[in-house]
Amino acid sequence: MQKRLLKWYEKYGRHALPWRKTTNIYHIYLSEIMLQQTQVNRVRDEYYPQFLAKFPTLKALAEAKEEEVIAAWSGLGYYSRARNLHKTAKLCQDALPKSYEELLKLPGIGSYTASAICAFGYHQNIVVLDTNIKRVIKRYCALLNPNEKTLNQAAEKILNDKEPRAHNLALMDLGSMLCTPKNPQCSLCPLASECQGKEEPELYTQTKKTAYEAMDLFFGVYIKDEKIALVKTEGSMYKGMLALPEVDPLEENYITSFKHAYTKYRLTVKLYRIDEAPKEPQWIAFDEIESAPLSSLVKKALAKLV
Ligand code: SF4
Repeated sequence: MQKRLLKWYEKYGRHALPWRKTTNIYHIYLSEIMLQQTQVNRVRDEYYPQFLAKFPTLKALAEAKEEEVIAAWSGLGYYSRARNLHKTAKLCQDALPKSYEELLKLPGIGSYTASAICAFGYHQNIVVLDTNIKRVIKRYCALLNPNEKTLNQAAEKILNDKEPRAHNLALMDLGSMLCTPKNPQCSLCPLASECQGKEEPELYTQTKKTAYEAMDLFFGVYIKDEKIALVKTEGSMYKGMLALPEVDPLEENYITSFKHAYTKYRLTVKLYRIDEAPKEPQWIAFDEIESAPLSSLVKKALAKLV
């Protein structure tokens, strides 16, 4: 099974992804953090090269100001990831630790990221369980609603201890390319001959439906000398970023509205003219929007005003 899996990976695997071609542990770590919530193509083509052009080393990242890191993360969302990357860079300016336990102690590094760094960066003999690999393991071993421990044990049983990096990457690609959540292509799968779940693969796919929450947000717009007044946010999620001030809606001052999706929220954002600048305004010219630390929601709002 291991040999067939690696042979398939050699032929069809996504070897060209830049974080698979590098041995730089920081670059591999960065890719794993970016890939947590963002599609592979967008990370590969936009965010990963742009971020590395600004902060090519852990040291360069450690020496940057938090606002610069947040601005470079702009558009990726989940800004706590950028703040934790920055904190980790400050703690380990020269190199990330090699042990799974030591990695787990760093800000923003959970069990998945620690195991991915160990397997993909340091080539250690360790199981990596991302969503794709979990799906393959559940089906291959016919595990119905297994807990993490059971999944881990099942993955360890088939781990190729001579080629752990390639083995984990192969399972990941297999899950993404053939053993997909819907309509897996078992006839092309190198694991089909002994896969215990192939008769009813979708039985092993958890399809927990996300409960979406609708929410209205009202923001004030105050423009002077072609600059817009923003405020610094305090909440933990967007801390340190700039946002439009929240206001009570006044229909006669209504400008426009738009929809925005953020995690489980389905937002309706409405913009209103306000007659006074908010307290402690941060003035941003419209041509500075791209480089300012703004969430994609705020960028979308500002684009409506240009
Ligand atoms: S045979 Fe089908 S269900 Fe089993 S691992 Fe391959 S693609 Fe997934």
